This record gives sequence, structure tokens and C-alpha cells, in this order.
Amino acid sequence: MKTKRKLVKYLVSLIILVFYRFNTKAKENKINTKVLSDKIFFKHKISKDHPETPDRIKYIINYLNKSKLNHLIENVDINSGNIIENWIKEIHSNNHIKNIKEMEPLAHKVSSAAVEICIKGVDMIFNSDVRNIFCAVRPPGHHALNTGKEEGFCYYNHVAITAKYIQKKYLIDRILIVDWDYHHGNSTEYFFYDDPSVLFFSSHDQYAYPGTGSPLKKGKKRGLGYNINVHLPCNTTDKQIIDVYKKKLLPIVKKFKPEFILISAGFDSRVDDPLGCYKVTDNGFRELTKIVLNIANKFCDGKLLSILEGGYNLDGNASAAVAHIKELNKKI
Ligand SMILES: [Zn+2]
Repeated sequence: MKTKRKLVKYLVSLIILVFYRFNTKAKENKINTKVLSDKIFFKHKISKDHPETPDRIKYIINYLNKSKLNHLIENVDINSGNIIENWIKEIHSNNHIKNIKEMEPLAHKVSSAAVEICIKGVDMIFNSDVRNIFCAVRPPGHHALNTGKEEGFCYYNHVAITAKYIQKKYLIDRILIVDWDYHHGNSTEYFFYDDPSVLFFSSHDQYAYPGTGSPLKKGKKRGLGYNINVHLPCNTTDKQIIDVYKKKLLPIVKKFKPEFILISAGFDSRVDDPLGCYKVTDNGFRELTKIVLNIANKFCDGKLLSILEGGYNLDGNASAAVAHIKELNKKI
């Protein structure tokens, strides 16, 4: 009898050991990050010499090549026009889309492609071995309202549409959107202001464009407490911005327990940006990435999709993006 029990015990531990080893092996084999982009982002410009230029993407690709990280880049086939438009309609009104299509057909095409890349990135995270994704897309999206025109270089709010896509397609409840662009993500705030399923955390200069983002704006109705604005003044340093994410984001995230994380990754909050006035360095962005990645690992098996927003110093934007991508690609 005793020998039998010993044998059962031995077999159980053996099964556990094999399962554990198999599991660790599977985790080791997971690719950490991919950078999704397409040459369509080399098109569209608001005007000659405008800072929101195709060069922003070209520089990021060049910097990735120089850092020998080009193997992370994956070009995505842009081909699902009507399907994408239906997802855009989850956030934007028919009138807004109709006006953008008529007045700015190329911007419509390029911004729709950005949405397509984002949602294909989500599919990759759910259905393949990749843990997280950086979407090297443009124009930015977090100022796009339903006004029928461009707002702050934006046409469609890519991050907001992606959040809706994750919720509807994958039946996910709680999404955290982190926005560290120098400017307030006013459109993201607007679309989720009364929605407790999306926690929006934005650090920005509330006195810059578009003049919104007061910390007093905390959401309404059931969404009260799920909109967090943190004002950071000119000359904000790495330490100041990192402190905000450690002291203000971490406690609320523990209660919210996100199931997926989206980053509105704007790098105009970096030092020397022509449209910003912060002093955040690449190291600062590396630390912010680490903080958000730790949250993703703790609460949602690392599921994180990061989307480029602003960033207008071509070298600075590319350098910060690469620092961010390097951190995303680190093994846990
Ligand atoms: Zn910005």
C-alpha cells in the first residue's frame, strides 16, 4: 500500500515537472515584440514643411536598421477597407467619416491603414506567439473628434477604435490606455468619459494644444474615477514623469486590473521636440515602458499594443521609439 502511494506521488510530481518544463519552454519561445508598419505611411502631408511628415516613420525604420532591429519589422497587407470602416464607425460618426473622405481622401486612406495595422496587431497578440506590438503609424489620432475635419493633425482616433475592437471582438472588459504624449489625448478622454471599462491615464501639459486635460476632469456617471489627467509643466524631467507613473498609475491599476493595455506613445514629450517643452530622455521612455510592461505582465499576460502618436524632432522621435521598442523586446 505504502509503495503504491509512493508511486502515485512520484508519477504526479513527474507530470508536474514535465508540464512546468513544457510551459517554460513555450514561454521562452514566445517572440516578445514586433514593429508593424507599411509604406502607405510615407504618403500624406498636411502642408509642405509640416512637422507631421512621412519622414517620422522613415527615421524610425532607419534607426531600427542601424540598431540591427530590422528583423522586428513586419509589413502588414493593407487590404480590408470596408471592414475597417465599420470599426472606425464604432467611434466616429458617419458624417465625420463622410467629410474626411470627401475633403481629405488621402488622409482618410492613410489613417484607415493605421487603424488596420492596430487591429491586425491585436489579432497577432491574441493568436500568435508575439507578446506585444509597436505600431509605427501616422498621422497621430488622439485629438480626432467628430467635427468632420482634421484636429491637431489627427483624423481618426486609432487607439480608441482599437480599444472598441478588443472589447467587441475578444469580449474583453477592462482596457487601460496610457497616453504619455506631450499633448492631452482629448479625443480619447471624450469617447470614454462615462465608460468604466476603459481606464484612461494621460500625462501632458494642460496649457499646450488643445488646452484640455485638467486633473479635475475625472470622468462622469459610471465612468467617474476612470479618467486620470496629470499635468506636467515645461522642463519636466525623467524623474518627475517616472514618479507620476509610479505614484499615480500603479495604485489605481491594482484596483482596475486591466485585461489589455494600449499605449498612446507620443514622443513629443521628449527633450528637444519643436512642439513640446519637456526634458524627458530616451532613458525616461525606457523606464516608462518598463513600468507599463510590468503592469501588463502582472495583470494580462503581457498583452500590450503601443501606437505612435506625436513626436516631431525626427531624430529624437526615432531614438525614443527605438528605446521604447528595445524595452518591449526584452525577455521577462
Ligand atoms: Zn502630441
